[in-house]
Amino acid sequence: MRNRKDAHEGDRHVDECSLSVPVRLMGRIKLDTITDLARRGYDAKITCSGCGHVSHWNAIELADELSRRRKPLRIEAVEPMMRCRACGKRGAVIQPVEQF
Ligand SMILES: [Zn+2]
Repeated sequence: MRNRKDAHEGDRHVDECSLSVPVRLMGRIKLDTITDLARRGYDAKITCSGCGHVSHWNAIELADELSRRRKPLRIEAVEPMMRCRACGKRGAVIQPVEQF
């Protein structure tokens, strides 16, 4: 059981914490580049934003492919230029997935 004073201090503490942590990434690791995926041992799951077609890439192979074409490796830069093999549209969502 807490008294009034303790409860108040507890509330203030929570407020300070939420200010210092603006973004909560629940169960999601912050990954900026394809190389980050490769380094952490993830594959890349690429979902077409047009038709939902999903393809899996080995992150190391994808990083190689992109650097060979002199493309950026930042995930947010790669996403809009991915072209779907199924519907031919550009734009996709890249997510890290465990390697098979
Ligand atoms: Zn598609």
